[in-house]
Parts: sequence; structure tokens; C-alpha cells
Amino acid sequence: MEQSNTYYGAKIAIATGYYDLPNELNVPGERLPHVSHYYTEAHAFWNQDVVVVGGKNSAAEAALDLWRNGARVTMVHRDAELGSTIKYWVRPDIENRVKAGQIPMYFKSTVKEITAEGVAIEAPDGEKFLPAKQVFLLTGYHPDFHFIESLGVKLDPITKKPAMNPETHESNIPGVYLAGVVIGGRHTSEIFIENGRFHGKQIALALTARRAQAV
Ligand SMILES: Cc1cc2nc3c(=O)[nH]c(=O)nc-3n(C[C@H](O)[C@H](O)[C@H](O)COP(=O)(O)OP(=O)(O)OC[C@H]3O[C@@H](n4cnc5c(N)ncnc54)[C@H](O)[C@@H]3O)c2cc1C
Repeated sequence: MEQSNTYYGAKIAIATGYYDLPNELNVPGERLPHVSHYYTEAHAFWNQDVVVVGGKNSAAEAALDLWRNGARVTMVHRDAELGSTIKYWVRPDIENRVKAGQIPMYFKSTVKEITAEGVAIEAPDGEKFLPAKQVFLLTGYHPDFHFIESLGVKLDPITKKPAMNPETHESNIPGVYLAGVVIGGRHTSEIFIENGRFHGKQIALALTARRAQAV
């Protein structure tokens, strides 16, 4: 049974990330049981056809792992090339697998429909059907913009970045602070563990008003 509790505080820091809300394709079949927005593991797919949709880190890493563990992987990506934010040690690996034909990749291609048997795509040279036992839609995630706005925090209409003092991380609503990926808006790749981990300290310093002594 779900239990709810109420906690009281004069200030609140929102650090709800983005991983709970995948960027959906809104195509028929997206909710079928063999379709997932979250990569699991490779071994269940040995000697099976798997389609991975996406062209950034999550998709590349999942495709490589699947291929190394004996799955027949095909990638589908809407852009003409792999994402610019792919980690420098992942990029040559995925590029070489694609070049060698070990992981066939459909660039500039979009998913039209997913069925129990596979994935229908629109590729530059026409429609194709890719058989798939499993489909991973690794097309990114986004913060819960509705939740953040419900607190009164203003979001940029284009980037969805919240209005915030970059020093204190306090939003336009006094007492509401923001940390981690939520401050990136749609640009989730701008915040990662190495830079996001400092936000907590900035907020703590602002809250305790000890910034001057700390520097
Ligand atoms: C596949 C993948 C690989 C990555 N690899 C790397 C990497 O190699 N190096 C790197 O630096 N970064 C990497 N990142 C990015 C990194 O994971 C994020 O930048 C980081 O986790 C963001 O931290 P966060 O605290 O903002 O959010 P999160 O780590 O997402 O934490 C948010 C937390 O808030 C909780 N939450 C959400 N909504 C609510 C709510 N309403 N109430 C209460 N709790 C809530 C969530 O359950 C979660 O526990 C990767 C991300 C992904 C998706």
C-alpha cells in the first residue's frame, strides 16, 4: 500500500534528475512487452535479433554490449551521424563496428511502427522491416518540466532551462533551489556527474550564508 508523508521545510532543493521520463517516439507498438526505453543486459539476447534506436551514448553502449555478447544488433538513428557527445572512448568502437558491418546502422531513418515481429522504419532508400525479438528505444530522457513549473519556477520556452541564480542555484521562487540535471532543461547532456556534483555544495553554502568564508 502506498504511504504518504508530509515534511516541512523553509527551503527545498529539487534534484529529481531526468531518468524517470524517456523521450518517447509516439509510434504504434511502443508499449509492447518486448520494447523498452531502458537497457537491461545482453545475455538474454544471444543469437537473437535486437533493434536499438538512438545514436548517442546510451544507444551506442547498449549496441556494443549486445553485439559483444552474441546478439544480432541493428541500429536506427534519425540523424546523419552519431551524436557529438558520444564519449571519446566509445566513438571509435561503435564507428568501427558500423563500418565493418558488424552492427548495421540506418542513419537518417525514423521508426514508423513496432510489432511483435520487428520494427518498420522509413530509411532514405525507402521503407524497411527489421526483425526484432527485443527493441531498445534509447532516445534520451527529460526532466519532469510539469513538476518544476508546478512549483512556480519559470522555464525558458525553448530550452526549458529553469530561471536560476547560477551562484546560489536559487530559482525565481525564493527558497526553491535546483541541482543536477534539472538545471540543464532539454540540454541534459550539459550536466553530468563531474559537474553536477558541485551543485549541492553551492546550495549548502548559499543556505548557510558562508560563501565568503569558504573562498
Ligand atoms: C545511460 C546513462 C549513462 C550515463 N553515463 C554517465 C557517465 O559515464 N558519466 C557521467 O558523468 N554521467 C553519466 N550519465 C549522466 C548522469 O547519470 C547524470 O548526469 C546524473 O545522474 C544526474 O544526477 P541528478 O542527481 O541530477 O539526477 P539522478 O541521478 O537522475 O537522480 C534523480 C533522483 O530523483 C528521484 N526522483 C525523481 N522524481 C522524484 C520525485 N518527484 N520525488 C522524489 N524523488 C524523485 C529519482 O528517482 C532519482 O533517484 C549517464 C546517464 C545515463 C542515462
